[in-house]
Amino acid sequence: MDISIIPIFDDNYVFHILTEDGLSVVIDPGDAQPVIDFLNRHELPLHIILHTHHHWDHIDGDPLLQEKYGCEIWGPEHEILRILHMNVFLENEQEYTLGTDSFKVIHTPGHTRGHIALYFEKHQVLFSGDTLFSLGCGRLFEGTPTQMWDSLKKIRALPDQTQIYCAHEYTLDNARFWKSIEPENPKLSKTIEDILEKRKKNISTTPTTIAFEKDRNPFLRADDPQLAYALKKDGQTPEEIFAYIRKLKDNF
Ligand code: ZN
Ligand code: FE
Repeated sequence: MDISIIPIFDDNYVFHILTEDGLSVVIDPGDAQPVIDFLNRHELPLHIILHTHHHWDHIDGDPLLQEKYGCEIWGPEHEILRILHMNVFLENEQEYTLGTDSFKVIHTPGHTRGHIALYFEKHQVLFSGDTLFSLGCGRLFEGTPTQMWDSLKKIRALPDQTQIYCAHEYTLDNARFWKSIEPENPKLSKTIEDILEKRKKNISTTPTTIAFEKDRNPFLRADDPQLAYALKKDGQTPEEIFAYIRKLKDNF
């Protein structure tokens, strides 16, 4: 399975998947033209659009792509009324076949109520949409902090070497936020250096890995006593700490 990154707008990523038997799939095409340009350049058809959630920056390319390629649209079952013309309603914990590959749906409410992540176990790849970002997580538009924390814990439980493809390039801003809440973390300065180096060369910080995020991402570390200590919140529950740092980030 080949994965390509198609940057759109200022900081969104659309992902293209080509399976070994030639099935051509895109995830979250918020804009059609960059996807059409990519497909033309590689002389590829388009068979399926997959969605993690209903926000416009993830679905607005659908009508044009469906008209041009006659592709199917697969999206989260709970967002059936908010994503038009869906052919397949993806259910939590279910496995779906994509040509020679398959993925499992992980329901990750918080950013939106119906949000899902797509897990390709054989390849150890996760498409996390707007739930998990490198060093960050999505805003809580439709969910509670506890829901989002539970969703992030589901993702955190995946194997360490899992590659995570995030739908936005927010890493540098997330790192600056991390610095504001945990300035003494010994991994901080090297991490920021590496991000700056990549961004200077216009290299995306996606994919990241579970191991990298577990170690650094404050939103995956709401139960880490070291972070609680840095925040002077010892004794608070992970849910409380998560809610606290999510609020700080909203106003950062
Ligand atoms: Zn979103
Ligand atoms: Fe988004």
